[in-house]
Amino acid sequence: MQVFKFGGASIKNAEAVRNVARIISREQSGKLLVVVSAMGKTTNALEAILDAAYRKTYHKLFQELRLFHYEIVSELFSPASNPLFGELERLFDSLNQQLKSLNPAEEYSKNYDSIVSFGEQISSAILAFYLNETGIETKLLNASEYIITNETWQEGRVNWEETALRISKIEPESKVEKQVWLTQGFMGGTENGKTTTLGREGSDYSAAIFASCLKAKSVTIWKDVDGVLNADPKRVKETQLLKKISYQDAAEMTYYGASVIHPKTIKPLANLSIQLFVRSFLNAKAEGTEIANFPEITPQPSIIFKSNQSVLRFEARDLSNINQRALAKIIDTLSDLSIRINLMMNTAVSFSICANTQQEKFENAIKLLESEFEISVRDNLELVTLKHYSKETIKKFYLPEKTLIELKTPTNYQFVNEG
Ligand code: ASP
Ligand code: MG
Repeated sequence: MQVFKFGGASIKNAEAVRNVARIISREQSGKLLVVVSAMGKTTNALEAILDAAYRKTYHKLFQELRLFHYEIVSELFSPASNPLFGELERLFDSLNQQLKSLNPAEEYSKNYDSIVSFGEQISSAILAFYLNETGIETKLLNASEYIITNETWQEGRVNWEETALRISKIEPESKVEKQVWLTQGFMGGTENGKTTTLGREGSDYSAAIFASCLKAKSVTIWKDVDGVLNADPKRVKETQLLKKISYQDAAEMTYYGASVIHPKTIKPLANLSIQLFVRSFLNAKAEGTEIANFPEITPQPSIIFKSNQSVLRFEARDLSNINQRALAKIIDTLSDLSIRINLMMNTAVSFSICANTQQEKFENAIKLLESEFEISVRDNLELVTLKHYSKETIKKFYLPEKTLIELKTPTNYQFVNEG
């Protein structure tokens, strides 16, 4: 069993859809589950449509999105005869109905999930029809009936037991030699049938969930880059493709800001040693990057930047030491507010943490802790992670005069810099 994930850029127009079909027919070796995102920038468009619907002015944006999809479909199929046009009409009607009857008293995030997930429902309907028409027998599955989450709208937490049970019921049809299932990324559902989403860019995670529950052999994420590079080419002149990365390195790289793969993707795959490939849909012959267990290889240095970072510094008001009790109190408070610590440092009298900038949460933390601690916040910072650092990478990227916090382990050198 293989799992493929195709992101928005890989199906952004008719030619791209044809290319995806070619890749599937060439690369499929047995049973295959395909996870697909919304087409092009549809998710951004739907977010804008939802906001406009709150102001009752969504029609123009809605028509643009509808036209964008109809143009693709008209290029792929001859109009009148194809039942896809009816299906598409049904989906856009239902989206329009929901927008029209949007209940502003309902939680925004809940409305978000039922509306923004239309992007994936539409793209998967189109792709399923297209694959079937080109002779790739494809069965469309509704992801919200398989990936079962709680009601944390916009960031559904997966109920693994129920999800595994549902996914285990996906049965191959005995007559079909090369079975393809197609489903939506990003989307899940609660046990009582409400649509949820897994967080922006969550389709990679969807692929990992299906792969894990199907005990697949591999997952391939098809992207518009050749694989995972050792640095962001927008920031670093000479980058190298990383051919092999261990699960642990990949997990750290995504956690600390490498954006090629969604951070939640690695763990479910690593747990079952399912290989993860990152390959280019523009250059499908190239091998790309393989992420797996590689105890033997010598890892290459890589550099990861994470912007929008802040440093919170705590000092005890009564000049006492920052002892374990004080640390525990600070960390508990941050944890209650779900402020995730990216890096931290303590001295006898102070404790500093680096976290993603989240003004509101920081204000709440200050309210809860300011009676005991003097707290300062610095914004516009960047967390730099040098993995498998060398003298050269340190020389190039470490700027001591700009560094607020730093941490060195045998494999990682990390520091928070002024931007
Ligand atoms: N379409 C969703 C997004 O753009 C999910 C994804 O692409 O992974 O965030
Ligand atoms: Mg997308």
